[in-house]
Amino acid sequence: MDDRTNFADTPEATDIAYHFHAYTNARRHAEVGPMIIEDGDGIHVRDNNGNRYIEGMAGLWSVGVGFKDRRLIEAATRQLEKLPFYHNFGHKSHGPAIELAEKLVEIAPVPMSKVFYTNSGSEANDTVLKMVWYRSNALGKPEKKKVIARNRAYHGVTIASASLTGLPNNHRSFDLPIDRVLHTICPHYWKEGRDGETEDQFATRCADELEALIQREGPDTIAAFWAEPVMGAGGVVVPPPGYYERIQAVLAKYDILFVADEVICGFGRTGEMFGSTTCGIRPDVMVLSKQITSSYIPFSAIVMNDRFYDPIADESDRISTFGHGYTGGGHPLGAAVALENLAIIQDNDLVTNAREVGAHFRARLATLADRPLVGEVRGIGLIAAVELVEDKAAKSVSTVGRLGAMMNTAMQRNGLISRNMGDSLGFCPPLIITRDQADEMFEIVEKSMGEVEAELG
Ligand code: PLP
Repeated sequence: MDDRTNFADTPEATDIAYHFHAYTNARRHAEVGPMIIEDGDGIHVRDNNGNRYIEGMAGLWSVGVGFKDRRLIEAATRQLEKLPFYHNFGHKSHGPAIELAEKLVEIAPVPMSKVFYTNSGSEANDTVLKMVWYRSNALGKPEKKKVIARNRAYHGVTIASASLTGLPNNHRSFDLPIDRVLHTICPHYWKEGRDGETEDQFATRCADELEALIQREGPDTIAAFWAEPVMGAGGVVVPPPGYYERIQAVLAKYDILFVADEVICGFGRTGEMFGSTTCGIRPDVMVLSKQITSSYIPFSAIVMNDRFYDPIADESDRISTFGHGYTGGGHPLGAAVALENLAIIQDNDLVTNAREVGAHFRARLATLADRPLVGEVRGIGLIAAVELVEDKAAKSVSTVGRLGAMMNTAMQRNGLISRNMGDSLGFCPPLIITRDQADEMFEIVEKSMGEVEAELG
C-alpha cells in the first residue's frame, strides 16, 4: 500500500498516479490527463467516454490490417493453445519461426538469406549495430566500426538505436549519441534545399556531404549507413529522385553496408511491399517491425544477405557461439500472427489499396497547399504529412510545435487521431482504409484547419 489512496477512483486519476508515460511531458500529464482507449474496430478506436475516432496513425504507424481483425485473433488463439512459448537458443526451433523466416527471405526485395528475431524496432537496430561490429572484427577490420545515420532519422530509443536516431529530444540529457555513430544531412528538399538549388542538385549535394563525412572520418573506419527509405517520425520525408542511387554509389565506393530500417515502410506502407522497392534501395540488411504483426504482438526481425551474415557466422564458429539473443526473439505467438498478417495483406491486396487510396488521400491533402498555414504537403503511398508554417516564404514558425498541437487538438475534437511531429501533421492510417473513409478523414483535416485559422484570427 502507498499513501495515494485519496485519488478519486477513476481510471484517469489512477493513470496519473501510477503510469509513467512514454513520449509525454511527465509533469504536464497530471493536468492534461490520459486519453483512455477502450476498444478498436477496423480503422476506428473508441475512448472510455464513448467517443469514436479514425485512427489516422494506425496506432504508432503500425496497425496495418486494422483493429480487431478476426483472422489475426484466431491465429493468435490457435498458437496459444498449441505452443504459447518456445525459443531459438542453442539449436532449438519451432514451426512459426521457421516458416516466417523462409517467407521473409522469399518476399524480400533483394536476395537475402537469413532472419534473426528481436522484439521491437529499437532492439532490432541495436542488434544490427552489434552485428556490424562483430562482423568487422570477424573480417579483421577492428577499426571499421563507425556508422552513419541521418539528421531527423528515427531508429528507436535503446542506447544504440537512440544514437542512430537524429532527433534532439532522443539525445538531450540521455548523454547520447554514443561515439562511432555519426549523422549526415536529412534529404528534405523543402527544408534543406538552398535558394536556386534544384531537387537534383540537392540530391547530389546530399551524396557529396556523405562522401565528405566519410573522407573526414577515414573511409576505413565506416562500416554501415542506416536509413528509413521514407523517414517517418522525423516528419515523413520522401527523398528526392536520384538520392538513393547517388548515396549507394558512395557506399559502394567505400565498401559500406546499407541498413534499411523498414520498421514503418515495410509491408505495404509506401505502396509497394517494401520501402526499399519504392526507393530503389538494395539493402544488405532490413529491419522489420510494427506492421509485421500489425502490432498485435511486439515483434521484429532482421533480414540479411550473405555478405552480412557469412563473416558473422564464421566468427561465431571461432568463438563457439553467437553470444546474443532474446528470450522473446521469434516468439511463436508473434511469428504465427506475422504469418497470418502477411497472408491477410496478400489475400486482400492491401499493398495496392495503400497505393490507390493513398494517392487519392494525398491528392486531397494537396488541395490544402494554398491555405495560409500550409508550408508543404508531402508523402508517398499511404503515408503523408502536412507541414504548418506561420511565414510561408520563410518556411518558419515562431514557436515550434504550437500550430501542430493546435491542429492536433482540433482534429481529435472532430474525431481524428493524428500526430504532430513539431509542426508536421502525420497521416498513416491502417492499410485497409477505403476511399470513402479517406475522404472522411480529409474532411476532418480540412474542417479542423478552418477552425484553427479562425482561432488565430
Ligand atoms: N525504426 C523506425 C523507422 C521507427 O519508426 C521506430 C518506431 O517508431 C523504430 C525503429 C523503433 O521501434 P520500437 O518503438 O518498436 O522500438
